[in-house]
Amino acid sequence: MENNTKKKGDSQYFFKMFRFMRPYAVPFSFGMFVYSAQGFISPFIISFFMSSMVASITAGDASLAITGAIVTFGMFLGAVLFMAPGIYMMIMNETRAIRDLKRQLFRTFVRNSLEGAVATHSGEGIAAINTDADTAAQVYGNPLQAFLGCIITITFASIVVLAVDWRLGAAAFGVGLLGFFVQSRFTKPLAKVGKDRLEVNAASVKSISNIFAGAIAIRAFNMQDKAAAGFEAENKMLRALDFKQAFITMWQTLYNNVQGWLMLVVVFVLGGWLVADGQLYLHQLMLTPFLCLNIAMAFGQIGAAYAGLQPPIAGAARVFAILEGGQQKDAPAKADADKNIILPTSYALKIDNLAFRYMDAENDALVGVNLEIPENKMVAIVGESGSGKSTLLRAIIGMYERESMPISLGGMTFGDSNIQTWRQHFAYVDQSCKLFDMSVKENIAMGAGGSADDDEIIISAKRAFAHEFITALDGTYDAPCGEKGGTLSGGQKQRIAIARALMKKAPILVFDEATSALDGESERNIMETIETLRRDHTILITTHNLENVVEADIIVVMEEGTVAEIGTHEELMAKGGAYHRLYTN
Ligand code: ADP
Ligand code: MG
Repeated sequence: MENNTKKKGDSQYFFKMFRFMRPYAVPFSFGMFVYSAQGFISPFIISFFMSSMVASITAGDASLAITGAIVTFGMFLGAVLFMAPGIYMMIMNETRAIRDLKRQLFRTFVRNSLEGAVATHSGEGIAAINTDADTAAQVYGNPLQAFLGCIITITFASIVVLAVDWRLGAAAFGVGLLGFFVQSRFTKPLAKVGKDRLEVNAASVKSISNIFAGAIAIRAFNMQDKAAAGFEAENKMLRALDFKQAFITMWQTLYNNVQGWLMLVVVFVLGGWLVADGQLYLHQLMLTPFLCLNIAMAFGQIGAAYAGLQPPIAGAARVFAILEGGQQKDAPAKADADKNIILPTSYALKIDNLAFRYMDAENDALVGVNLEIPENKMVAIVGESGSGKSTLLRAIIGMYERESMPISLGGMTFGDSNIQTWRQHFAYVDQSCKLFDMSVKENIAMGAGGSADDDEIIISAKRAFAHEFITALDGTYDAPCGEKGGTLSGGQKQRIAIARALMKKAPILVFDEATSALDGESERNIMETIETLRRDHTILITTHNLENVVEADIIVVMEEGTVAEIGTHEELMAKGGAYHRLYTN
């Protein structure tokens, strides 16, 4: 029962995939039909040729053979002329639909990339999604074509054989149907082996990557033997499954041969009797054996063709999980194009009863947040982890586009503002400090939109205390960062990220645990830089090290998504509340 509903649930994705085909439906269907009809057309032409040869032989009339050969050649020519544009149309429109699918997937991905299921995908996960899209796209390709090919062959070949003699047609169809049932006995165990194989293989890949990823931990805990044993066991299981698969396939192949042979026996015994009895001409009979063989084959392949459709359907299910997942609970903000560019009159921030919930989340991450931040102040946001500090900062810098975002910056309200204009006012460094796969110089220049003078880059790097190690390191600003920058320490990457943020020259600087990867001295250095910046910038900062924020103009204490206390260090310490607890802990 459960299995049934699951199957039914998945098959909907097969049909959903054809939404992307809608604009190309007519030429694609035509092409697909033509291409799939190959399975019938070629055997039919060959059968026609055999039939006309036999007619010529039995009539003792060579001219019949010549006419037959000419007509056959004409039919081949016609088939090619008919098929070539069909195949072109099929493939052309298939690639168009795949392009549209990937485009929409990419857009959804970018739109949802900060929240929900998509946000948790690593680079590897994104590659997997691209693979899923390719797998899903096979719904339009070979498996469907194979499946349709079987149906078309069975239908048209049966019609021809029925037209020759209804008893022959019925017999051929019956033998084919028998083959279908026997074959379907093989498809289930084969599908199961295939599925088990995929699972064991995935487990084995995971084992290997765990061994790699935990290379140090495995040795440190003396787990080498255990890790190797797990991998060995999976390998053994894979071998067993491969053997089982080969065994079932052997029986299946054997049966296929029997099936073809059975079909020929039935056709020749029944047909021979009909000819001997004078109910059928020999040349009429000769039209049928090859077509009957193809009927038998098509019946045999239908199960496999149907099974071939399952991986694409599973891929489609994964693709639609992304396309349809991460629906915003809130209405999405209105399109940027509809907004006027309004510039703020000051850089004073005001948050008026802000509530925020992540996509797919059960609870609000922020509730009833009220905050007023005058310009050029240093504001520390503190609180237990999970209290909503990072969420609040990301909401402020405009990462979450929602209709109800009651945040304003000097008279410019978030909802009415052009999002890029809004973001232009903030520079941001967070704890993960992702660098791009580019050189140090290019990474820092990204802060200024991608291009900047070397002098400016060096000034920013110096203020972020990055210049010294950059010039020491391979001696250049051209050293690679990102994936290739494996030699950069966490603290070095963080300082490059800070230099990049300083390049932006935004009036409001946002540091979310930006010094968390730094050693004590580097952290103090960065805090000194921040000290100099606070004169003419608003600074929003979260940090685990409360010593860093004792001097802040305003300290905001977050608790469970809302503001619990606001004040200076002295005021909050005197109060003896949440801040006092955090500070003395
Ligand atoms: P803090 O920075 O104070 O540690 P966060 O703002 O990161 O806290 O998290 C606040 C709450 O929001 C937590 O309950 C956290 O689990 C949740 N949260 C954070 N990021 C996401 C996300 N991308 N999707 C869903 N929930 C999130
Ligand atoms: Mg945080």
